[in-house]
Amino acid sequence: MRLSLVVPCYNEALCVRRFWEAVRALALPCETEFVFVDDGSRDGTLAALRTLAREDATVRYISFSRNFGKEAALLAGLRKATGERVVTLDVDLQHPVALLPEMLATLDGGAYDCVAARRTDRAGEPWLRSQCAKAFYEILNRLSEVQVRGGETDYRMMTRQVVDAVLALPEVNRFTKGIYAWVGFRTKWLEFGNVERAAGETKWSFWGLVRYSLQGITAFSVAPLQLASVAGILSCVAALLYLTYVIFVTLIMGNPVSGYPTQVCLTLFFGGLQLFSIGILGNYLAKTYLETKHRPLYLIQEEH
Ligand code: UDP
Ligand code: MG
Repeated sequence: MRLSLVVPCYNEALCVRRFWEAVRALALPCETEFVFVDDGSRDGTLAALRTLAREDATVRYISFSRNFGKEAALLAGLRKATGERVVTLDVDLQHPVALLPEMLATLDGGAYDCVAARRTDRAGEPWLRSQCAKAFYEILNRLSEVQVRGGETDYRMMTRQVVDAVLALPEVNRFTKGIYAWVGFRTKWLEFGNVERAAGETKWSFWGLVRYSLQGITAFSVAPLQLASVAGILSCVAALLYLTYVIFVTLIMGNPVSGYPTQVCLTLFFGGLQLFSIGILGNYLAKTYLETKHRPLYLIQEEH
């Protein structure tokens, strides 16, 4: 049985060879194939991959014409992988390769179709980032049918059957963790402590993560669309109650006309609410628009 290692790389010239050496040093008990995906790196990543491919016949690579993002890189790698087993992992050694033998053994056992890794802590990560991540998973799990626990990574070994299931999902807006949760199958979770990057620096900015989180939610939940209707109903009820009060005050108490501040507040409040709801609608419309374009998710410039 052949194992394919699908490895997205974006400006990782310092990590590529280290990663390859670390995997080689494991002497895995099966045939292996490396599928590196150079996601439009602007440093020496592609050169490093070319050199590796010359030295080692089991190294293959794809190079994108520009940076298309990790999701696209993972998809391209999964499409190219030929093994009966496929594992996706980061090149910066933050996904400990030492887990690979155990993952292989678990799949060999036949009781599971995937083995995935979960980070038990976020040591060394900025506090704000950890808190936001926690909040994101809580919201996602509440709003959507898929359940993703905090700490779940996309370090995952799958049988061919699972890979084919993942590849069969045609969506453009890909949120891999959600897709894995959606396809199901018998999954075993291995846990590991946070590891610092081997070299280089993270490719995720804070706002990049926020954007990614919103994509994750809109990809797997339509609850925000329903939120607009709920907010509409609630404000109608509030308006009716207030109307009753106004009628009461005017007819029974005979109060003179007043309420200019109330007017302004209500106008502003409902204006805001409507814009917010239209914004949500627009978000989903934009997603639909992008899906209907059927644009390729990446362009390959070089392949080996
Ligand atoms: N990556 C990628 N394209 C991108 C951003 C990241 O292929 O646009 C790769 C990166 O080279 C690494 C993995 O995705 O192998 C995880 O990225 P990173 O280590 O920067 O994320 P973090 O571990 O900090 O969450
Ligand atoms: Mg990393």
